Amino acid sequence: MKKHLQHPIFSIISKIVTQENLECYVIGGFVRDLFLQRGSKDIDVVVIGSGIDLAQKVAKEAGVSKVSIFKNFGTAMLKYKDVEVEFVGARKESYNRNSRNPIVEDGTLDDDQKRRDFTINALALSLHQDNFGQLLDPFNGIDDLQQKMIKTPMEPLITFSDDPLRMMRAIRFATQLNFRISKETLEAIHTNKDRIDIISKERIVEELNKIILSEKPSIGFKLLEETGLLKLIFPEFVKLKGRETRNGIGHKDNFYHTLEVLDQLCPNSDDLWLRWSALLHDIAKPNTKKFIKGIGWTFHAHNFIGEKMIPGIFKRMKLPQNEKMKFVQKMVLLHMRPIVLAQEVVTDSAIRRLLFDAGDDVDELMKLCEADITSKNEEKVQKFLNNFQLVRRKLKEVEEKDAVRNFQPPIDGQEIIDTFNLSPCRMIGDIKIAIKDAILDGVIPNEHDAAYEFMLQKGKELGLEPVQKKK
Ligand code: ATP
Repeated sequence: MKKHLQHPIFSIISKIVTQENLECYVIGGFVRDLFLQRGSKDIDVVVIGSGIDLAQKVAKEAGVSKVSIFKNFGTAMLKYKDVEVEFVGARKESYNRNSRNPIVEDGTLDDDQKRRDFTINALALSLHQDNFGQLLDPFNGIDDLQQKMIKTPMEPLITFSDDPLRMMRAIRFATQLNFRISKETLEAIHTNKDRIDIISKERIVEELNKIILSEKPSIGFKLLEETGLLKLIFPEFVKLKGRETRNGIGHKDNFYHTLEVLDQLCPNSDDLWLRWSALLHDIAKPNTKKFIKGIGWTFHAHNFIGEKMIPGIFKRMKLPQNEKMKFVQKMVLLHMRPIVLAQEVVTDSAIRRLLFDAGDDVDELMKLCEADITSKNEEKVQKFLNNFQLVRRKLKEVEEKDAVRNFQPPIDGQEIIDTFNLSPCRMIGDIKIAIKDAILDGVIPNEHDAAYEFMLQKGKELGLEPVQKKK
């Protein structure tokens, strides 16, 4: 692997550890990613001795002035050119039952490799000049990389019980790398699933987000479901599972449908929040499901109820309660609108209303809706996609013509008050809504003069006389 340790930081570290005669290795994710030919900018260096001392010496040699020292963890970090290097002394860990934070003692490289979560994450390459680049792989991690296999180096039941976050990490790596999890390791996750209880929500959702941001998130969600973890961390989602048939009429399994939507969205969007929207778009289907004779299965208003469920889910999962959440709510609320449009004759006024409601997020909404088509019938899929093309074209046309995407009413409340000499009352709001509707329905153009005339007419209907001339 010598030829792969090309980055100048390795020769600097090598020089120092050889001078000091220290055993020192680059270890973990960086080495794994070298073999997988995935670029990585985070380098973990383990030394038999003090990580902090070594970091300071390396910094001096490299001309780096800032070293971040974490005394409590015995680690130090520095940035050099385009990489971030973390230095730590080799350690041995032991755990107690109530915490994932181990009791730490100094240890050998072997101890340090044993505390790693997976065989593919325990690979080490020596940095000492005597054996520079030599691979130390006591758990056959290279074989597992070739077999595309996630496996713990030690007894998996103990590994996961010690630090249950590793269960999420196993599934996250399986998803990111498209690897399988060995049978024994997977069974141990199932056995230990309830231990996830001691992990903070923030850490869980960090892993979940990495799964969602992978190329094919369904891999992770299926594993989470299979191991029983999903029910513990995201019960609303598990409820989507299953189909029911009545009077010979069935409905689709919304769990698998949702995963298909999410996977289909991925090539078109890396946005975490649009991906969350895909995950949540049908979340209220179980709560709204009804069988109506003569009609079949309905999920009436599942978009409205879904929108209402999101703050609770975000709060519990420690996802942000800010404009990101509002965006997800908006997507869930509106997710059926373009589909309905694409099924009907696409009128300008329906397009204007969609633009008005979706605003700048209309392009994201279209991506979600296109991903939402999961029929097995190719002809049907093609028909929908063609109609969506038409909707997109119309969106562009109407936007150029009417500029309602970020609609600002051409007449504001004050102008209505001044024109009719009104004190605050309901009529002001009614007139404002009537103007907005008239614009969206194409009755009048989105212009001040037309809106003014319309306001006078509306006022007349309400028995109001203008007392002030047009501005
Ligand atoms: P990525 O950067 O994609 O998250 P990574 O493997 O570099 O992947 P880190 O979280 O940066 O992940 O961890 C670095 C290394 O530390 C891992 O490769 C692994 O050897 C070890 N490690 C991290 N977390 C744990 C854990 N919870 N239990 C055991 N070892 C761990």
